[in-house]
Amino acid sequence: MIEENVKNLLEEVGTNPLGEKVTLVAAVKTQTVEDINRAIRAGITDIGDNHVQEFRDKYDFIEGNPHRHFIGHLQLNKVKYLIGRTYLYQSVDRMELAEEISKRSERAGVMSDCLIQINIGNEESKGGFEYDDGLAAYEKICALPALKVKGLMAMLPISDDEQFLRSLAKKMRELYDKLREKDADIEYLSMGMSGDWKLCVECGSNMVRLGTSIFGPRHYNNT
Ligand SMILES: *Cc1c(COP(=O)(O)O)cnc(C)c1O
Repeated sequence: MIEENVKNLLEEVGTNPLGEKVTLVAAVKTQTVEDINRAIRAGITDIGDNHVQEFRDKYDFIEGNPHRHFIGHLQLNKVKYLIGRTYLYQSVDRMELAEEISKRSERAGVMSDCLIQINIGNEESKGGFEYDDGLAAYEKICALPALKVKGLMAMLPISDDEQFLRSLAKKMRELYDKLREKDADIEYLSMGMSGDWKLCVECGSNMVRLGTSIFGPRHYNNT
C-alpha cells in the first residue's frame, strides 16, 4: 500500500542524529502518474526523476505542486527541457553538465540549484566526481553565474560489509561539513536508497531518495 508506506516512512525518516530534518524524496522512475499522485496525497512533498522523457510526459499530470528533483544521469542535450522546472539537480556529475545547466539557466533568466554527485565507491558503473575532487568541483561550480551548489549527493556501493558502507557514508558527511563551513547555503547531503537509507541517516545524511520502499517493485514495462 503506497499510502501506508508513505505514512510509515515519513515517520521513520524523521531527523538524523545531528538533529537535522531528513527530506524524503520519492524516486518515481517507471511509476504511473496515478501512483505518484497517491504518494503525494499521502504526504510526499518531493519527487525525483531519472529520465527526461518520463519527467516531461508526466509533468503536467502531477498534482499538489511537489518539489521536482532530477536524480538520474543527464545528457547535455536534454538539459533544456528541465530548466525552470527543477527544484534541485541532484546528479551534477561532471563539469560540462554544470556548465550547461548554468548557461541554459542564465538564458532563461533563472537561478538553478544543484548537488555535486560524488562517486564515493569509486565505481566504474557510476557517475560522479572523485571524492578528492569534490572541493575543487565546488569551487568551479561556484564560479558559474546561474548555478548554485546546495550540497552533495552519493550512492553507496552494493555491499554486505556494513562497516565499509558506514565508513564511506561518514566520509561523505565530512566533505559535506567542510563545504558547509565555507558556505551557509549548503544544506543537503542526499544519500540513502531503499536498501541503505537507515545507515546513511545514522551517518549524517539529511535527504533520502526512496523508490521501492514506497511503490514496491519498478514497472519497467511502463517506460
Ligand atoms: C532509483 C533510484 C533511487 C531509489 O532506489 P530504490 O532502491 O528503489 O529506493 C535513488 N536514487 C537514484 C539516483 C535512483 O536512480
